[in-house]
Amino acid sequence: MTLVNETSALLSKLGVSAAALSAGDLAVSSPVTGETIATVAQVSAATAAKAIDEAHAAFLEWRKVPAPRRGELVRLLGEELRAHKDELGRLVSIEVGKIPSEGLGEVQEMIDICDFAVGLSRQLYGLTIATERPGHRMMETWHPLGVVGVISAFNFPVAVWSWNAALALVCGDSVVWKPSEKTPLTALACEAIFARAVKRFGDDAPHGLLKVLVGGADVGEALVDHPRVPLVSATGSTRMGRAVGPRLAGRFARAVLELGGNNAGIVCPSADLDMALRAIAFGAMGTAGQRCTTMRRLFVHESVYDQIVPRLKKAYESVTVGNPLEGRALIGPLIDKAAFDGMQKALEEAKAAGGSVTGGVRVDAGHAEAFYVRPAIVEMPSQAGPVMEETFAPILYVMKYSDFDAVIAEHNAVGAGLSSSIFTRDIQEAERFLSAEGSDCGIANVNIGTSGAEIGGAFGGEKETGGGRESGSDAWKAYMRRATNTVNYSKALPLAQGVSFDID
Ligand code: NAD
Repeated sequence: MTLVNETSALLSKLGVSAAALSAGDLAVSSPVTGETIATVAQVSAATAAKAIDEAHAAFLEWRKVPAPRRGELVRLLGEELRAHKDELGRLVSIEVGKIPSEGLGEVQEMIDICDFAVGLSRQLYGLTIATERPGHRMMETWHPLGVVGVISAFNFPVAVWSWNAALALVCGDSVVWKPSEKTPLTALACEAIFARAVKRFGDDAPHGLLKVLVGGADVGEALVDHPRVPLVSATGSTRMGRAVGPRLAGRFARAVLELGGNNAGIVCPSADLDMALRAIAFGAMGTAGQRCTTMRRLFVHESVYDQIVPRLKKAYESVTVGNPLEGRALIGPLIDKAAFDGMQKALEEAKAAGGSVTGGVRVDAGHAEAFYVRPAIVEMPSQAGPVMEETFAPILYVMKYSDFDAVIAEHNAVGAGLSSSIFTRDIQEAERFLSAEGSDCGIANVNIGTSGAEIGGAFGGEKETGGGRESGSDAWKAYMRRATNTVNYSKALPLAQGVSFDID
């Protein structure tokens, strides 16, 4: 079956009509072959505004539905995702070029956050607070917030939406989602899966609870600027975050910004080197370096450098790069030519800064418009030039260190510190890395790599935008508004000492 036919068959099983696949002028290509697999319709800014108004009307109804009942909708969404995991996972692989286990793994994350959110729907707790006034009770109450705008990146085309949507829905919010213009098909599939859950749920799910806006940055901007969107959760590059953050601040809207990651690992003298090697290889090469949590910098203690770096290079030279749909490759394609060009530019800059490059060359997979590349490992004399920036491609910069305090400072010297890890069996090193004077990232791990976050903990958060905001832990609080309520059950109204009013 051709990729076009397979895509159409998958989408039809998921509930998206064939007509939607040739409805407009946004060409969707698969990075697996570079061929166009659909041309879908984009919305205009005016249509986006209308959709947001509809979502606002839906919010006004949804906020009145009891939270555990709202959780039931998310439970049904989780069930629908379980039932359609294979098809959606395969579609992720076709649209983004992930190997099958990663496509399915992404859908599993959606299922997991639904489970989490169902439990959460009965735990949106506020505190009862001791009050200084006699005969009074004080408490905090969490209320639904409004329309939650979600802007997502191409590389996690469905999981990021579900992290936001599952929490927002149980919190009593409606959702307007602007997926990446590179991955509208998986978004349309999620919309259809959600519609199935709503159908099973019943009439108390208002029309307009989820709106999907296919389009580019201009549609994202319409969402960011709309006064009826009190929270925008935007996932993507740091460049995008710098554009979105000030616009939201300008109208006092909330921002959850999940941006780039220039993530590092540290290999200490006592590390279990086999374990470290596996974790680094997976964290740096997996998903062809196109994860926000990809390991991009590696600091290796000089006493173990020669034991680990040559083995790592071997792994880089031998890993199978190729068509992810055929099931043998561990590394699939880059998303497009721009990603390939960006990688080559960074490698040239690294060479100019004294780096020694292994790998990084284009791999011929038989498709002129598809961009497969051998992952690159670059030994650097120091942390400089392109090492300071996130290049969204499989490049691992390796540097030698000798002093623990100095390496922590180097580790923390970049802006986009999202995830981090240390490999050590020395408890003092491990604890110092996790302490206030250790890693400054939103994720800090010991003896596991930088990637593969679980939904139970709050995810990510580069140090520049504050750590750990989406998904688990108490991340739900961003999707609600807090009220402090005081009730006077005494017969007096205590005022400040010496204050009284004459009232007839
Ligand atoms: P991108 O920044 O190019 O696009 C992300 C989204 O933002 C897209 O939907 C795009 O249309 C939209 N957008 C772009 N400019 C906008 C603007 N001015 N206003 C409103 N919306 C705008 O990112 P990408 O190439 O799709 O994804 C890769 C990047 O995302 C990497 O930097 C990666 O680290 C990051 N990422 C971060 C996380 C995280 O949780 N921290 C997760 C996945 C990806």
